[in-house]
Amino acid sequence: MSQITHELLDRAAGTILGCAVGDALGAGYEFEGPRDPATVTMRPGNLTGRPPGKWTDDTEMTLGVLMAQADGASLLDDGIVAVASNFLTWFDSRPPDVGNQTRQILRQCTRPDEMLEVAEKFQELSPNAAGNGSLMRTGTVALSYLGNDHLLSEAAKRVSRLTHPHIDAQEACVLWTLAIDRGVRGVGSWRTNMNHALATLPEERGQLWLNRLTEAESVHLGELRPNGWVVRALQAAWRSIVATASDSAADHLHEAMQFAVGIGDDTDTISAIAGAYLGGHYGASELRPDWTEQLGGWPDGLGSNDLRSLAEQAVRKSS
Ligand SMILES: [Mg+2]
Repeated sequence: MSQITHELLDRAAGTILGCAVGDALGAGYEFEGPRDPATVTMRPGNLTGRPPGKWTDDTEMTLGVLMAQADGASLLDDGIVAVASNFLTWFDSRPPDVGNQTRQILRQCTRPDEMLEVAEKFQELSPNAAGNGSLMRTGTVALSYLGNDHLLSEAAKRVSRLTHPHIDAQEACVLWTLAIDRGVRGVGSWRTNMNHALATLPEERGQLWLNRLTEAESVHLGELRPNGWVVRALQAAWRSIVATASDSAADHLHEAMQFAVGIGDDTDTISAIAGAYLGGHYGASELRPDWTEQLGGWPDGLGSNDLRSLAEQAVRKSS
């Protein structure tokens, strides 16, 4: 565990607020086609009908994990039931925007302690199903065991398995979580942190993901749509990060989220994934205040200050 400094807490909040800003930014363009990133701004949610700046399921499910973490739940033991319980409470609130795979799992669960098993059975019947719904909410997992690759990997895989047990979904969450952890601790660059994460996978799998990331850096943008598949979603988010690299932290952070929306299709999720990554690297204080001030959503109309407090509580409970 790193020493808890003001900067570390700002970056921890940054992974949550980056997710929320990216999510809210993309919500105005969900399932639309490609567009010029420079024109992307906060608009009303076109699936949710919510006002500009309101987050969707990507942040809501992140909060399902984060609230359990802030309460001190361990993601590696029974604390996972607290996460599953938050997911079911959220699902019962009839959110307008729920991913297909997540909906199929949650509607079959009558109790939170059966979610892992329900998801496993779903995967047996649909062996190729690998949506992006666990990657979109994984940034917060990094705050659980800061600096401990082994425990973070196990936690990332376990939280993914609640709804997305496919190996690609689990490993995507591991890569993002481990790279974000290093960003939050102020170790390495956004690129070297991904190299570190890749090296923790079994050799063949690490090579496979390296090839996928390398491909994403130069492929025609049209190849990154549709992006509901977790591999394509990670590639689209990575491309957004690489394509907008800048010496200015604030420019990189915002332009990456705008680029992600500009790719098109699952805009809120790709932008949330990119925002969680770079928000954790640069910190919440780099985010545009006029965008963070507009943030809000389930549960109970939380806003940016609540997200910041929850992130700080999660870090203080981190072991
Ligand atoms: Mg969404």
